Amino acid sequence: MDPRKILEELDACLKKAMSQGLGKNGLVFPIDPAAVEDEQLRPFCHRLAAVFDMVNESYKYAEHLSRGDLKAKSSRNNIFAMPLKGLQASLAHLTWQARQVAEGDLNQQVHFLGEFSDSFNHMISSLREKKMIEQRLELITNVLGEGVFLVDSHGKIVFANPEAMRLIGYRFDEIEGALIHEILYKQQLNGTLYKPEENPLFNAITSGNDYNDEDGVFTCKSGFLMPISLVCRAVYKDNILDGAVIAFRDITVQKKHLQTLEAINELLEKQATTDALTGIFNRMKFNKSFTNEIQRAQRYNTPLSLIIFDIDHFKQVNDTYGHLAGDSVLKNLVRLVASNLREIDIFARWGGEEFVIQTPETSLDGAIKLAEKLRSKIENHDFTEPEKITTSFGVTSLKKGDNTISFINRADEALYRAKKGGRNQVVYMENRHD
Ligand code: GH3
Ligand code: MG
Ligand code: MG
Repeated sequence: MDPRKILEELDACLKKAMSQGLGKNGLVFPIDPAAVEDEQLRPFCHRLAAVFDMVNESYKYAEHLSRGDLKAKSSRNNIFAMPLKGLQASLAHLTWQARQVAEGDLNQQVHFLGEFSDSFNHMISSLREKKMIEQRLELITNVLGEGVFLVDSHGKIVFANPEAMRLIGYRFDEIEGALIHEILYKQQLNGTLYKPEENPLFNAITSGNDYNDEDGVFTCKSGFLMPISLVCRAVYKDNILDGAVIAFRDITVQKKHLQTLEAINELLEKQATTDALTGIFNRMKFNKSFTNEIQRAQRYNTPLSLIIFDIDHFKQVNDTYGHLAGDSVLKNLVRLVASNLREIDIFARWGGEEFVIQTPETSLDGAIKLAEKLRSKIENHDFTEPEKITTSFGVTSLKKGDNTISFINRADEALYRAKKGGRNQVVYMENRHD
C-alpha cells in the first residue's frame, strides 16, 4: 500500500474519532500493519496499532471505574491507564476506610482529593466527638445509683440504664418500645389505676412540662408496687419536643424509716399524754383539752361540767397492803370509772389518787347524777385488797366569766368540802356569783 494512502486512512480515522468519539468499537486501526510493504513504515504501523489498542483498553477501564467497578483490570504496560490505576487504588482505600468508619473505627483520616478529604475528616471528628459524649453518658448512666429512662414524645421507652432494669425487674428487650405510663407508672400509691388521660407522667411527657413525684409507685415486673421518687424533664431536638428523660429512685427504705419514725412519734406522743400506770390521759393532756373545751362551750353556749374525785384514806391502803396493792386499786378504779363514761367525756389522772372528768354537753344536774353513780359503783365494787374503798367527789359546771383556773378551783373547793363533810360523798358548787 502506498504510504500516502496509509497516512490518509489514519488521518480519516483520527478525524472521525475526534469528532464523534470512540464509539462502541473504540479506535480501530484502519489497515493491517502486516500488509504494509514499506520496510520502514511496517514496524511503525505495528507500534501505532498497539497504541490504538492501549487507548481502547484504558477507555474501557475508565468506563468501568466511573461505574464504580473497582475490580476492573488493565494491562501492566498500558501507559495511558497508569494514572487511572492510581485513582483506582485511592478509591479502593477510601471505600475500605468508609467501611471501617461504619464499623465504628473513628481513627481514619483521608489524605487526597482536597476538599473531599476535609469534609470526610470533619465528619469523622464530629462522629468521634459524638461517640465520646455517648460513651461518657453511657458511663454516667451505668454507674448512676438512679434508674434512668429515655422516652419518646408518646412515652415509648427508648433507653433504660442498668439500674432502672435492676429496680423494676425487666430486661430491656421486654420493655423497649412499651409505653412507660402503661407498663410502669400506671397506679397511684393507694393501688388505684390512673385514667389514661389523667396520668400526670403521660401529660408531662406529651406536653413537655416538668414533673416531679416524691411519693409515687412503679409497678414492677413481679406485680409489686415499688415506692419511688421521680423526676421527668423534656428533651428537645432542634427546638421540637423529642421526648423526656425520667430519673427515679426506690424509696422503700426511706418509707420504712418514715414509718418507724411515725410509730416512734406516736409512741412518744402517747407517752407524753397518758398516765403510765392507768393508761388514761395525764394532767398535761387534760389541761390542753380542757382549755379547748371551755372555749368551745363558751362560744356555743353549751353546758360543760367538771368532776374531781379522790380516794379516801388511800395512804392507809398503801400502808396496810403495800404499794403494789395500791397500784392495783388505782388501775381497777380507773377501769370501773371509764366503763361508766361516754366517749366524749375526758377522764384523766390529776395526780396521785385524784382524778378529773370533763363532761361536755352536761349540766350541773347531770354531772351530779353521774358523780353519784360513780361514787356508788366504787363503794360497792370488790377491790380484793382492800375489798372496799370509798371516794369523795367535787362537782361544778361552767359559768359565764369562768376561766380554767376558776373552774377547777371551784371543783376543788367542792371536793375539799366533801372530804371535810365526812368523805364518800358528792358535793357540788354553784357559781359564787349566782
Ligand atoms: P384523803 O382521804 O384525805 O384523801 O386521805 P389520803 O390518805 O387518800 O390522802 P393523802 O394525800 O394523805 O395520801 C395520798 C396517798 O396516795 C399517798 C400516796 O402514797 C398515795 N399514792 C399516790 N400516788 C400513788 C400511786 O401511784 N400508787 C400508789 N400505790 N399510791 C399512791
Ligand atoms: Mg385521798
Ligand atoms: Mg389526794
